[in-house]
Amino acid sequence: MNSHSAGLATDHDSATDTPATASTFTATAASGPIDRALAGERLDRDDILELYRLPAEEVRAAAHQMRLRKVDRPLVTYSLYGNIDYTNVCSVGCKFCCYFRGPQADDAYVLTYDEIAREIEALREEGVDNILLMGGINPELPFDWYVEMLKTIKSVHPKMWIDSFSPEEIIGLERLTGRTAADLMTELKAAGMDALPGVSAEILVDEIRHAVAPNRISSADWFRIVEAAFDVGLEVPCVSMVFGMGETNEHRADHMLALRDLQDRMLAKHGRGVQTFEVWPMRLQHSRLRDSAPTSDPDEIAYDYLHHLAVGRLVMDNIDNHRTVWRTMGFGIAGQGLLSGADECSGTGTINAIVAVTDLDGRVIDDGPGAKEDILSDIHQCIRDAGFTPARRGPDWEILYLDTHDGPSVYDPAAVAAGESNGAASSIATDRNPASVS
Ligand code: SF4
Repeated sequence: MNSHSAGLATDHDSATDTPATASTFTATAASGPIDRALAGERLDRDDILELYRLPAEEVRAAAHQMRLRKVDRPLVTYSLYGNIDYTNVCSVGCKFCCYFRGPQADDAYVLTYDEIAREIEALREEGVDNILLMGGINPELPFDWYVEMLKTIKSVHPKMWIDSFSPEEIIGLERLTGRTAADLMTELKAAGMDALPGVSAEILVDEIRHAVAPNRISSADWFRIVEAAFDVGLEVPCVSMVFGMGETNEHRADHMLALRDLQDRMLAKHGRGVQTFEVWPMRLQHSRLRDSAPTSDPDEIAYDYLHHLAVGRLVMDNIDNHRTVWRTMGFGIAGQGLLSGADECSGTGTINAIVAVTDLDGRVIDDGPGAKEDILSDIHQCIRDAGFTPARRGPDWEILYLDTHDGPSVYDPAAVAAGESNGAASSIATDRNPASVS
């Protein structure tokens, strides 16, 4: 942790504070790793540690330059997705988890297929085209239950993109069935699974993982299962780094280098890899680790968050898209993230059921009926305040339309390439917001 929070231009207190601008961050001194990263050189472990020693403002300014080189368009993407957490019964018992229950707990649950279908129907009516389907490691559910769940969803909603089952769930199914991850995921893919979320990663260094979650999937198994997902033709849209678990900067460096190596291997082997990298802080205040949280100071967490985000942009040179996360950070800090290396804003779904979803000031974002439109409006404003045009993308990362002030508009990349506009060609109708279009 650091002591620089007083110098940080944060606005976590309000999403409506003075809009952030690029001029907020001005690099004051050239430094070795920053120069080399901007010259296109790959950074090593010592470089990463040096980036963590530098003032965050310098690293963030460089990361923003790198973002503009890598994703050279005046847009920030977001997606409409929804979470379905099919069971909270789990036998793993990670100490940081606020979500799991024993099978006998009063509030333990397993959703029925009908309940899952109704949740998806409600999401469809909000325009959602992508669900994140995950749950605990419930030994009572046989493998066929998962296969039938996917088939049932796809039979009713054939176009719904399904990101499903963390590497932790897949290894749970390996242990349950005695089958290999590749074998299991081949059958799950045939039943309707489109992608494996690259979650359960936190910090991929076993001494850190085992200290906070002794039964958690090991780093080696995490990489084995993610690679198997690529091998059987699944997408792995995102990998993450969750900090604030007692790790050092050396551990953070090792985590990022291991993910960068994975991406190199997948690009070489399959010609495709992970689409986006995201960073967020573990929030321990509602977990069994509440007394060992490194800090609960929102300014320190915000400073660390933006610093990590920027380091990630400079280090993870083979992942084009980097995401800022508003759920845990609030829209103000998420907007600062768009000027610190990120080119994507987290979408409408919740980040993860395992952590209490509050922003840095402890506010819970209301997800009740009708809340999606307010959340979308806040996402759009966050992106506009950072000086970009919001662009809704699909689960395949194609840009579907731009959310201009005049309503949804067709994206015209040729106009962007020619420097003529933000790419908004003409107004269009969408199923989400038909009243706003001409
Ligand atoms: S994080 Fe996942 S695996 Fe760990 S206890 Fe929670 S639900 Fe279970």
